[in-house]
Amino acid sequence: AYSNLGTDTTIHRRKTRPVAIGSVIIGGNNPVVVQSMINEDTLDIDGAVAGIRRLHEIGCEIVRVTVPSMAHARALAEIKQKLIDTYQIVPLVADVHHNGMKIALEVAKHVDKVRINPGLYVFEKPKPDRTEYTPTEFAEIGEQIRDMLEPLVVSLRNQNKAMRIGVNHGSLAERMLFTYGDTPEGMVESALECIRICQSFDFHNLVVSMKASRVPVMLAAYRLLAQRMDKAGMDYPIHLGVTEAGDGEYGRIKSTAGIATLLAEGIGDTLRVSLTEAPEKEIPVCYSILQSLGLRKTMVEYVACPSCGRTLFNLEEVLHQVREATKHLTGLDIAVMGCIVNGPGEMADADYGYVGKTPGYISLYRGRDEIERVPEAEGVAKLIALIKADDRWVDP
Ligand code: SF4
Repeated sequence: AYSNLGTDTTIHRRKTRPVAIGSVIIGGNNPVVVQSMINEDTLDIDGAVAGIRRLHEIGCEIVRVTVPSMAHARALAEIKQKLIDTYQIVPLVADVHHNGMKIALEVAKHVDKVRINPGLYVFEKPKPDRTEYTPTEFAEIGEQIRDMLEPLVVSLRNQNKAMRIGVNHGSLAERMLFTYGDTPEGMVESALECIRICQSFDFHNLVVSMKASRVPVMLAAYRLLAQRMDKAGMDYPIHLGVTEAGDGEYGRIKSTAGIATLLAEGIGDTLRVSLTEAPEKEIPVCYSILQSLGLRKTMVEYVACPSCGRTLFNLEEVLHQVREATKHLTGLDIAVMGCIVNGPGEMADADYGYVGKTPGYISLYRGRDEIERVPEAEGVAKLIALIKADDRWVDP
């Protein structure tokens, strides 16, 4: 800890192998991928297609759908057909749960990745006396599970498709619960067992997740997973998320607390922010997390002071106007500052600055250079003119 004190401001991402999910690659040196899940019933084919398109249009790069029955799995064939234009761009992931082997094998024909929860996917008969598992019993059941998983692993391997091993804190297999308790260790052991099974069939298109609804549990589980995988030479990418984060401001903050903490430590290759809201609402949160950490730049970065007694104009209103006028641009940093009390360095080396100067006047900056002083009423228009003069403007 604290070994990076000094000048290193780069996030050093954990080294992972690239795993292709259709046309999108998770891991390697690729940008952290944004994903979400539609909440339409997969049997409602037109509804599901519309949901996938809506997510795609707002920037979702991989879309997950739930597949609770064979009929749902077959519906994916039709959904895929209807999406044929979009499908090349938006890979689909099927979520298969309880005893889902036949369903998974069917849906694996139609999607790019199958997500299984090892705690639910194969039914493990609990011990009748509910006593602790001996190491031999534990390993024996592991062998049985290997046999049960084989058809899916082989099918995905042969089609060059991917699997997400999605462990959830709330649904660990009883064997894991009895042996490790309801702990991050139990979650990690469950994932590692599943990874080893996939490796034994020479299948490596794996992405792993460790979701929990409590952020400290999720943090501990992901950190332990990364540590244990690295130690074992397993360079599989990691999918981040806080499950059941809720809605509104707190849902966003809770998700960010978990996801951003790990991303800042270099852990994570793809993310989903799970909100109890329309799935489209999740996507801007994902991109904001990635942008704020400097991992992706997909929108204008606004630097603005909080305003204080020295502020020379209505900062909130001006920031709003500047944002409305420039939010469609990408790759720019724009600062809006109430005054220049501590010098232009306060603007964090933004590309452009809009700064209160004297009452009724603002100054426009390009980088650290003051370009012109203009009446406040003309400030936003002059800022746009400056960006246009620099050939960095595109029409909305
Ligand atoms: Fe106040 Fe100026 Fe600092 Fe803004 S930049 S908070 S106006 S001192």
